[in-house]
Amino acid sequence: MAGYRRQLYRDDAVVLRVQKLGESDRIITLLSRRHGRLRAVARGVRRITSKFGARLEPFGHIDLQLAGDPKGQQGSSLHTVSQVEGIDLYGKRLLGDYPRYTAASAVCETAERLTPVEREPSLRLFQLTLGALRALADGEHAATLVLDAYLLRGMALAGWAPALAGCAVCGTPGRHRAFSVPAGGAVCLDCRPPGAAHPAPATIDLMTALTSGDWRVADAAENGVRRECSGLVAAHLQWHLERALRSLPLVDRGGPAAGAVGTPAGGVGPAVAGVDRE
Ligand SMILES: [Zn+2]
Repeated sequence: MAGYRRQLYRDDAVVLRVQKLGESDRIITLLSRRHGRLRAVARGVRRITSKFGARLEPFGHIDLQLAGDPKGQQGSSLHTVSQVEGIDLYGKRLLGDYPRYTAASAVCETAERLTPVEREPSLRLFQLTLGALRALADGEHAATLVLDAYLLRGMALAGWAPALAGCAVCGTPGRHRAFSVPAGGAVCLDCRPPGAAHPAPATIDLMTALTSGDWRVADAAENGVRRECSGLVAAHLQWHLERALRSLPLVDRGGPAAGAVGTPAGGVGPAVAGVDRE
């Protein structure tokens, strides 16, 4: 590649995904603080003698030096990892805890889906993702609540958070009883489309609390309310993403509703499935 010189640059990042490449290399998908989402090759990390293989596991917060064009305008879009330091390797703390591990997988898959363009900085999404992984590792709140708070705030950053404080269609303020994913969230009786769900008022309260970070309300929510909230959040997210998340159905929600994500009681599933998006 004539005239192309790779530059060295530093950033801190969370590891979203790790894929094998050949015998001993890996491709690491990162969400970095200043350079957005990027992919980098880590050479030789699968050898036992590798110094930094363990620092490049999923969910870790790392400080790293990369080689490549930070603006991505020249040469390969794939950068090379030349140095790594672990800041906090959350993945180690999540091993052996299936609900937290699967929630972290859903957080990282969502972060990747919310950043369709490589190297487009999104400081707020980076901070949100880092905060969610840290909260999952710390274990202060239930994993499903941390995940749903992350999904609601991530959707807000993307500009398609569900309406909760007013009707999604006409804007009339208030806590409305009906909820329609295709309409964009809570809807008033006049605007309520066929197939709208009618979640418990406490479910809308929980979604509001998770969006604003009111953990006193969120931690006190009953299991049935948590499951209904998870179902609505998952249905709203998947309505706006082109493909369903692979990791979301795997999240352990501690009850019979696990595996029924996206089709909770209340008719969200049929309302979503019955509308042709194309
Ligand atoms: Zn309305």
